[in-house]
Amino acid sequence: MSTISSALLYRYFPDLSAQQIEQFDSLGPLYEEWNAKINVISRKDMENFYLHHVLHSLGIAKVISFQPQTQILDVGTGGGFPGIPLAILFPQAKFHLVDSIGKKIKVVEAVADQLGLTNLTCAQARAESLAPRSVDFVVSRAVTAFPEFYQWTHKLIRPNGTNSLKNGMLYLKGGDLEEELQPFKRKIIVFDLNSYFSEEFFETKKVVYLPA
Ligand code: SAM
Repeated sequence: MSTISSALLYRYFPDLSAQQIEQFDSLGPLYEEWNAKINVISRKDMENFYLHHVLHSLGIAKVISFQPQTQILDVGTGGGFPGIPLAILFPQAKFHLVDSIGKKIKVVEAVADQLGLTNLTCAQARAESLAPRSVDFVVSRAVTAFPEFYQWTHKLIRPNGTNSLKNGMLYLKGGDLEEELQPFKRKIIVFDLNSYFSEEFFETKKVVYLPA
């Protein structure tokens, strides 16, 4: 069982609708159920589900509020992170979640369906095979090193857009990024999640933003 409850989210996101609260409250039990059938989150980490997976995913929402109709692609979503928490938070934006492994997408599909998320689609696909210039933002967490991620995804983003940040990539990263980000250092902005969230977990966690 998750020992940390969804209440943690509401300290940082106090303006949610009743429907969003219901959806976030349902996430823990839904993942407990699905994770027992198809392992998408390490069983041990389910104890920290709302902190490590949901709140971490929502770190992206501390750096941008997606405008209605913004098209967002989550590459290598696994069981739906960061895409599912973001789709709950931004019901008027459009999310497409892909992973190369079909059984993970099966979990995403089931959870989205059970939550009644109508702004989310998903597919089994490799990032490299997706249509160019088809989305406003690519979001992701823990898929590959940033240079490779850039190679896979930079062609998928159309330029400009109507959000507070220009269209681009928003990648959740942790640890020492100095070497990995060196080739991009003139263009990227690194947001420290510990400026938004006080839990120790966020000490080294960042959102790396690269405009298209
Ligand atoms: N983003 C999720 C999360 O943070 O919980 C999953 C992270 S998991 C460590 C990495 C995921 O990326 C795996 O589910 C894997 O199947 C997927 N993946 C790896 N290479 C990929 C590619 N080229 N295209 C799509 N998905 C890929």
